[in-house]
Amino acid sequence: MTKIMAVNAGSSSLKFQLLEMPEEKVITSGLVERIGMKDSVFTIKVNGEKLQLIKDVDNHSEAVKLVVDKLIELEIIANFEEIQGVGHRVVQGASVLTHSVVITQNEIDILESIVDLAPLHLVPNLTGIKAFMEILPNVKQVAVFDTAFHQTMAEEAFLYAVPYDWYERYSVRKYGFHGTSHQYVSERVAEILGKPLSETNTIVCHLGNGASICAVKGGKSIDTSMGFTPLEGIPMGTRSGNIDPAIIEYMMVKKNKSAKEIINILNKLSGYLGVSGISSDSRDLVSAAEKGDQRAAMAIEVQAKRIVDYIASYYVYMGGADAIVFTAGIGENAPGTRANIINRLTVLGAKIDPVRNDCRGIERLISTDDSKIKVFVIPTNEEVMIARDTMSLL
Ligand code: ADP
Repeated sequence: MTKIMAVNAGSSSLKFQLLEMPEEKVITSGLVERIGMKDSVFTIKVNGEKLQLIKDVDNHSEAVKLVVDKLIELEIIANFEEIQGVGHRVVQGASVLTHSVVITQNEIDILESIVDLAPLHLVPNLTGIKAFMEILPNVKQVAVFDTAFHQTMAEEAFLYAVPYDWYERYSVRKYGFHGTSHQYVSERVAEILGKPLSETNTIVCHLGNGASICAVKGGKSIDTSMGFTPLEGIPMGTRSGNIDPAIIEYMMVKKNKSAKEIINILNKLSGYLGVSGISSDSRDLVSAAEKGDQRAAMAIEVQAKRIVDYIASYYVYMGGADAIVFTAGIGENAPGTRANIINRLTVLGAKIDPVRNDCRGIERLISTDDSKIKVFVIPTNEEVMIARDTMSLL
C-alpha cells in the first residue's frame, strides 16, 4: 500500500489530498487558507466529516508541518515516511519541463529561471515545493505541470504571429493550461466509449473559475484556448479571455493607468464579473438571470458564444469529434449553461437530452441516442493524475 499526497500550493493556500495507490482511494483531503495572515483556517476531511482549526500560520512550511502533524495525530499515518511521495501541481513548465519529473535542485533552478513566465503561480508553487522538501526531506517530490499535456501542439497552433524573435529569445508562445484535467477527462472518454485512446477525438470544456477548451486528438492535445498565460481564450469568472490587444493602450490612456493595471483588470475584474457587474460566480449569475437581470444573462451568453466558437473550430481542426465533455465547477454543475452551449451546435448534429442533462457532479452521457456527437459530463480529477504520475516516478 503506497500513500501519495497530491498538493496544490497557492500564494496564501495549500490544498492537499492523500491517496492510497494504486487503488486511487482518497484517504483524506483538506486545505490551509489565509497562510501568512491572521486567523489562518485549516480544514481537513476525515471519514466524511470536516474538522476545522483556526490559528495563525505564518508561512507554507508551517502549513506543511501543521498538515503532517495532524495526519499523525489523527492516526492517518504513523510517521512522515509513510508518505512515499508528494506530487505538486505546477502551473508552468514551459518548453523545458515537458513532463512530470522528480524534483531535485536542478528542477528548482529551472523553475526559478522561468518564474517570470507565470510569477503569480510559479512563486507560490515553488514555495510549496520548498516547504515540503524542508519538512519531509526524505520523501520524493514530483512536479506535475499544467502545461505538459499541451506540449504536443504543432508550431502552427502554438506560435503567435508576432516577430519570431519574441518566441526564440523570450519564449513567447501558447503554452495552454489545465492540461492535467484535459488529459484525465479525455482518457476517461475513451474508456467509457470502449475505444482505443489513439482513435478517440474529444473536445474538453473545462469550465471553472478559470476555463479552457481543448482539442484532444488520439489522446494528444492539438490546440487549447488558454495561451501564453491563462488570460487567453474564453471569458471566465473574472478574466476577459480574448480581446483586441489594442484595447489595452486605448484604455491606459482613457483611465490613466499602466499596462500592468489594465492587465490586472482583465484578469480580476472582467469576464462574468465585468459584464454582469454582479459576481464572478456562475450560481449568482444564473439566479440573477432567472430574476430578469439582463447583464447577468448577457455575461452567460457572451461566454457561451465564445465557447461555441472554439468547439466549432476544434471540430474542424480535428476532422470531427467523438465527444464533447463538460468538466470543472460550471461544467459539472450548471445544466442550463451546458444546454445553452450544445443547443448552439445543432448544425454539427449535437443534441442534448434534457432529462439526462438534469444532473450535477456525476459522470453521465447527456446527449440523445441519435446525437451525432456524444456529450458527457465527467467530473475532473487532477489529484488522481498527479498521484498516478508521482507513483510512476517513485
Ligand atoms: P476553479 O477550480 O477554477 O477555482 P471551480 O472548478 O471550482 O473553479 O469552478 C467554480 C465555478 O463553478 C463557479 O462559477 C461556481 O459557481 C461553479 N459551481 C460550483 N458548484 C456549482 C453548482 N452546484 N451549481 C452551479 N455552479 C457551480
